[in-house]
Amino acid sequence: LSIYSFVFFLLNIPAFSQNGIEGLHYDIQVRLDTSDHSLKASQTVQFTNATDKKLDVVYFHLWANAYQDNYSPLVQQQLRMNNTSLHFAHKLNRGGYKAIQFSETETGNVLEVKYQDDSKEIAEIFLTKGLAAGEEISIRVEYEIKIPRLYSRFGRRKNYYQITQWYPKLAKFEDGIWHTMPYLDIGEFYSDFANYNVSIDAPVGYEIASTGVENSKGKYSANKVIDFAWFCSPKFKLASKQVAINSKVIELQVYNYNSNPLFDNAMEFLERSLRFYSEEVGDYPYTTMTLVLSEYAKGGMEYPSITVIGAKDEESLDHLVAHEVGHNWFYAALASNERKHAWMDEGLNSFYDHKYHLKYYNDAPYNNLVPSYLRNAHAYNILEAGFRGQEVLRKHQASNLSSELYSPLNYGIAAYQKPAVGYAFLESYLGKKKFKQIVQSYYAKYAHTNVKPEELQAEFESGANENLDWFFKDYIGSESQIDISVNNIENANGGCQVEIENKSSIDAPVQLSLLKENAVVDSMWVAGFSGKKTVALDQCDFEQVILFNEIINPDINGTNNSLKKSGLFKKGQSTNFKLLGGIQSRNKRDLFYFPHAAFNAYDKLMLGVGFYNSSFPPKGFRFAFAPAYSFNAKQLVGFGLLEKDLLFDSERFRKGIASFGFKRYNYFDNGYQLHYAKFTPELRFYFKTDPLVKTTKSLSLRVINLIEEYPIFNEESVSFDETYSLYSELKYSSNGQDVLAPVNFSASLEYGNYDGFSGARENFLKISSEYAYAYQFVKSKFFKFRLFGGYFLMNSQRESGSMASRFARGSFSLMSQGFTDYKYDETYLGRTNQTGVESRQISLTDGGFKDSPGSSYRIGLSNDYALAMNVKTDFPFDVKIPIKLYFDMGAVSTKSTAVQELKSKAYYSGGLAFEFLDETIGIYLPLVQSTEISDSYLDRTFLQKISFTVNTRKFNFWRAMEETSF
Ligand SMILES: [Zn+2]
Repeated sequence: LSIYSFVFFLLNIPAFSQNGIEGLHYDIQVRLDTSDHSLKASQTVQFTNATDKKLDVVYFHLWANAYQDNYSPLVQQQLRMNNTSLHFAHKLNRGGYKAIQFSETETGNVLEVKYQDDSKEIAEIFLTKGLAAGEEISIRVEYEIKIPRLYSRFGRRKNYYQITQWYPKLAKFEDGIWHTMPYLDIGEFYSDFANYNVSIDAPVGYEIASTGVENSKGKYSANKVIDFAWFCSPKFKLASKQVAINSKVIELQVYNYNSNPLFDNAMEFLERSLRFYSEEVGDYPYTTMTLVLSEYAKGGMEYPSITVIGAKDEESLDHLVAHEVGHNWFYAALASNERKHAWMDEGLNSFYDHKYHLKYYNDAPYNNLVPSYLRNAHAYNILEAGFRGQEVLRKHQASNLSSELYSPLNYGIAAYQKPAVGYAFLESYLGKKKFKQIVQSYYAKYAHTNVKPEELQAEFESGANENLDWFFKDYIGSESQIDISVNNIENANGGCQVEIENKSSIDAPVQLSLLKENAVVDSMWVAGFSGKKTVALDQCDFEQVILFNEIINPDINGTNNSLKKSGLFKKGQSTNFKLLGGIQSRNKRDLFYFPHAAFNAYDKLMLGVGFYNSSFPPKGFRFAFAPAYSFNAKQLVGFGLLEKDLLFDSERFRKGIASFGFKRYNYFDNGYQLHYAKFTPELRFYFKTDPLVKTTKSLSLRVINLIEEYPIFNEESVSFDETYSLYSELKYSSNGQDVLAPVNFSASLEYGNYDGFSGARENFLKISSEYAYAYQFVKSKFFKFRLFGGYFLMNSQRESGSMASRFARGSFSLMSQGFTDYKYDETYLGRTNQTGVESRQISLTDGGFKDSPGSSYRIGLSNDYALAMNVKTDFPFDVKIPIKLYFDMGAVSTKSTAVQELKSKAYYSGGLAFEFLDETIGIYLPLVQSTEISDSYLDRTFLQKISFTVNTRKFNFWRAMEETSF
């Protein structure tokens, strides 16, 4: 016995003797009143203070209160998931405690209650005389709950009642800490084991499904369980069956709401799931297992011996049944703290439900939901793709965080997918047999206890007989990513040696396979190491080394996992050609190609073949090219983009991207067909942001190099020349995605340098800024407000009368059209057209006006300053078409000839907007316009007053992935 273990031993004693609550017993009489959707109940909660200290207060959870108002953490979390139903719920559809009273059963003394939170979900109960160590108490609770419509787990729809997380529940008390927590969608619970006697009084004709067993009509009991849930409806079709698994008889029940035929095979799935888990983990812990199936349930939710499931197809139903049945082992029996360590139950359970799914479908869960043309034999499955995608984007979070700290997607990845992949990898490393022994002994030892993460790790380590910190501390407990590469193969000492490198901070073991003629000739595990390692082999009779060959593994970068001894392409990845697109391949290069047709007024029809290499999960190096043949210009046109991720450790930045974009198309000038070409190198850095605050922030520097052809008119002939312009733009953008009130902000500083008309180079330096705010005032109805301001700090053309032309570029424009798009950022059907439909295409940049006066009326332009304000609103009532009202106002200082003084002019314009696809496409009809704008419309027909916009920048999928918070 060393001194350290002696100290450790001493430290453990008080924790042991001060464990918490014992002998917890709930006795509940509850009546369901369907006329006012209420529960009227009376319950006693009996328990013993098993600590060595007196308790003056105890805590109860009143989770039904989460539905009462908009301040509950539930509503706040649902908003982060873009779910506004509860936020905008009608008062009649909400729910919560209408009355509640705590008293001492013995004396009848009413107990004082103090709420710990604004939503009154955590009640602190003051015990009159306190509860001495070892003493028992019984607390009586009388209460009435209004059942909300089904917005989360507790609620009702029509005559279907889901009574879960409903009764006043004693918080888990452990080692002197009360584990109090508000109710959440994302984030589960932590409870003491208790015995329940529940008598339920429901209207005649209502069937009840519940935790535990029914002893006599309406009387239920369940022993040593951590929760009690029930479900009730007159529309349940009941099927039941008795099965014997490992000589244990289990009563199976399936309650199918409205006899939905989609759930016809649920009983079969239930039985084989129970058999699967019993065989893998150990005996099923209860004597009944009940499934409640309803179209109103979202996904699945587990309760001891009962689970509720809603699925859209049979394969998902089977997966959900397996997953929720599995929770009887990992959650109900092994009752870890789900809120704080969701990876413990969800991770191990997901590992098993994947195994189950692979066994019966030869595929991963939910992969069937991806259209088959997006999948191929080498593609990541949908769950892997989500996991890798977040990791490559560097938006991932560690697996050991408390649930409320996760973004919705990251919860699914960190608590479910990442540990599931990890356990599969661990199983390959330890061997199937040893892994199974470890999990079975973990279950046998800790079933019916509140098991801790360190107990899970200790069980794995003693079974594996080695330290597994690389798994539990580094892989689960950090954001670090595993990346191993094979660097070199060479002959040495009559054999071969292979250099492998650990490019990460996780010293995970590495599986190394030798292949000859695509068959594995030898395979070995190399113990975890850091830095480079040389593996000596006693043979050289192989062609290729592959790491993690065909095993599920968490290596983030599969492209450096194989190396050939010789050949031109030693890295050895073959290319997967695929039409249109698909999910990225695991160990192959992808090249997606697509027929490409385009049109503009000058090139007319353009046809070509486009190709790109990166879909989802994204590659660290990406390219896309879309060359096309212009039938009018009879030349090659098109665009391309190359991007490379810049990864580095930084407190401030998530990642950087270096990119190079180019495009070349034609346009008209004075009736001549001319070309332009644009080359844009760019550096962009994304700031690290709180995953719970849905905002992306970036800083970018882009340098636009522009070559435009133009005609020179000589006396009798016309010749052509090219002008070169350079625009450097430094821009900060903050892109808010709050569902109720998103805020967008950007500020930029831009330097322009271009060929002036006189032949001299002209210059400008301008600053501009944009602020946009939207407010959802009724469900899906927004009021939007935008401000724009810009000023030229320097402009060699400030005093000229030319604006937005070849003579003076960079001018601010209240009304943005093709001829004002001097950086060629937008896509126009006819950027210089003065008549026809093409001339009425606008962009909502700069001043954001919706008018299209055209290049012959140079209205709202300035080489000095511009200010604008735009408002837009949905109608507060439902209309069949996506119609809005808009109003724009702005001012610029402008002049029309060089000799005039700069003079400020104000403009306004308002009308009706029709917008589609999140404002990607907009159609605008002005109704009121300031005189100068309306004068430019004098000879237009009604239809010619309509302008339109197509925001093609929204089609950039790579950028959308970077800038969308999931
Ligand atoms: Zn689960």
